[in-house]
Amino acid sequence: MIPFEEFEQNLAQLRLRMESACRAVGRSMDSVQLLPVTKNHPVDAVVFATRAGLAAVGENRVQEAAEKCAAFGGGVRWELIGHLQSNKAKEAVAIFDRIQSVDSLKLLNRLNRYAEEAGKVLPILLQCNTGADPNKHGFSVDDMESALEVAIAAEHLRVDGLMTIAPLDDDLEVTKVAFEGLRELRDRLSAAYSVALTELSMGMTGDLEVAIAAGSTQIRVGTALYGARTY
Ligand SMILES: *Cc1c(COP(=O)(O)O)cnc(C)c1O
Repeated sequence: MIPFEEFEQNLAQLRLRMESACRAVGRSMDSVQLLPVTKNHPVDAVVFATRAGLAAVGENRVQEAAEKCAAFGGGVRWELIGHLQSNKAKEAVAIFDRIQSVDSLKLLNRLNRYAEEAGKVLPILLQCNTGADPNKHGFSVDDMESALEVAIAAEHLRVDGLMTIAPLDDDLEVTKVAFEGLRELRDRLSAAYSVALTELSMGMTGDLEVAIAAGSTQIRVGTALYGARTY
């Protein structure tokens, strides 16, 4: 784990990247949130993020987040950004403040049931496999409409918007098509169902500029903040 001073420098550089990406397309810096991704790093990564004034962290596994959550205590929001198995849905509802990686109708129904049992309304994003990448989770573009219908009807879920991971491809043009596709899909669904869907969670260390240009409202960044992960 890098020292806090190095994290601060990384954060400052990342903000410069975000600023110039925003400036290039005439967006204001406060229209894009930064979600620090603390997965595969010790709980210190969460401590660093909060010390720097960041309000939420992203984790991709329930078990790992549960351990960090117990070690860290309160004072930060936990967002799940990795695939969730239905048999871990109950624990996920207990830990996470928002689940971005909702990728099946079965999971939607389970989350709604467990949120009801927990007496809460759980904020979610619908994950879309915009690039039709066989290695990625997420609803296909064609299934997004029915997924949104189920999500809207679920009384204990609140759909904040959409999330995607760009297909694994070195060509940023492919990434751009995926991100612009998600924004267009959001605009279309938002109009058709009269729901805001304000959050567009897209962009990571390698493609955040493309994501910001395409309308991302939240980038999820690990490597640029904390260095390489050790798996
Ligand atoms: C790991 C991860 C990230 C962060 O990726 P970096 O390239 O390290 O910035 C973002 N989103 C998801 C869904 C991830 O799993």
